[in-house]
Amino acid sequence: MNLVLLGPPGAGKGTQGDRLAARLAVPKFATGDILRDAVRDDTPLGRDAQRYMDAGELVPDEVVLSLVREALGAPQAAKGFILDGFPRTVPQAEGLDARLVELGVKLDAVVYFDVPEEELVKRLAGRRVCPSCGAVFNVHSDPPAVAGTCGDCGGQLEVREDDREETVRNRLRVYREHTEPLLQRYEKISSLRRLAAAGSVDDVYDKMIRVVGLG
Ligand code: AMP
Repeated sequence: MNLVLLGPPGAGKGTQGDRLAARLAVPKFATGDILRDAVRDDTPLGRDAQRYMDAGELVPDEVVLSLVREALGAPQAAKGFILDGFPRTVPQAEGLDARLVELGVKLDAVVYFDVPEEELVKRLAGRRVCPSCGAVFNVHSDPPAVAGTCGDCGGQLEVREDDREETVRNRLRVYREHTEPLLQRYEKISSLRRLAAAGSVDDVYDKMIRVVGLG
């Protein structure tokens, strides 16, 4: 199955995408994760991307498009893939279309995670990430057993730099301006599945399984 998970920051695309990828045994490509890894490893890509990410702005289309073009050409993607956090602009969606044509594959669905803005702000403010292993927790909905400590590897949990309130507001503005127009685009080509994603992780997962036709 080839899927795109679309929605504002904090909507749960990463958490649900990981579960779905495990269930389908396909890779999940999250452009935000790829970029954060590059920043952490201090690569030329990371050094370019960091200032946009810290400000909650989008990294230039060409940069993310070339990452996704490469990822989709990898042998693991041949049996399906999940894209999380990409596309985020109309030019990215056009670039994705072109790459899919090249590869001779189609999207099965674009799942839109619909969550009210107050809930997003609350979720992002409560998010804690482990810088060592990448695990994600939430102080409200999915707290670690020991406060501040990663339940997977024991690392010290942190607030993501771009989850600070002012940056969150900017990310939501950028989402409305650049990414929301994609909803209409995918609605027109009839692959959009709306998912009311404000509930618990398990409830949203069950709904997602149904909207993609697996449940
Ligand atoms: P995310 O983890 O998806 O919230 O992404 C974190 C940050 O990475 C975003 O605020 C952007 O700065 C950057 N980013 C991730 N995906 C994209 C994308 N598809 N296009 C442009 N910038 C992106």
